[in-house]
Amino acid sequence: MKCYPNMYQKDIQSIPYQKLKKMGIKCLIFDLDNTIALIDQKKITEETKKLLTDLKKDFIIVIISNNIKSRVQSYANYLDCDFVATAMKPLSRGFRKIKKKYHFQKDEMCMIGDQIVTDIYGGNRYGMFTVLVDPLGEKDLKITSINRFIERKILNDYQKKNIMKKGEYYE
Ligand SMILES: [Mg+2]
Repeated sequence: MKCYPNMYQKDIQSIPYQKLKKMGIKCLIFDLDNTIALIDQKKITEETKKLLTDLKKDFIIVIISNNIKSRVQSYANYLDCDFVATAMKPLSRGFRKIKKKYHFQKDEMCMIGDQIVTDIYGGNRYGMFTVLVDPLGEKDLKITSINRFIERKILNDYQKKNIMKKGEYYE
């Protein structure tokens, strides 16, 4: 099941990070749009900034996005963390870049995102631990609509087979 997330939580605030740390995760790779910020939001909320700042004590934080550099960089600068823009998830190019730069093993890296087709499929395919969160907002980038269409089909199939259900979170 290449699209099945290892963990599913409501949002990035709800993720049990200490559990990830105990599992040996050293690097948290966050998707940007609809995972840490709304797509039309220019700034990150104070709550999110505080969370990510606290997490830096235990993990290397990297933002990875298929969005353009100018948008991704402004968030990364604000959070004082590393980033990969125009990553072309689910392709592994961006993940490889992070692994190489920090000398991580794949099982020390965790991908956290709101899209099954890019974040979860890409993360699983690369061999990382994957955490799905619900999208922060209803609005997506235009290019995402086809992914959401595929995602609904996958989720419907998983629900039919009793594998997972939207809104039923697990660790
Ligand atoms: Mg996203």
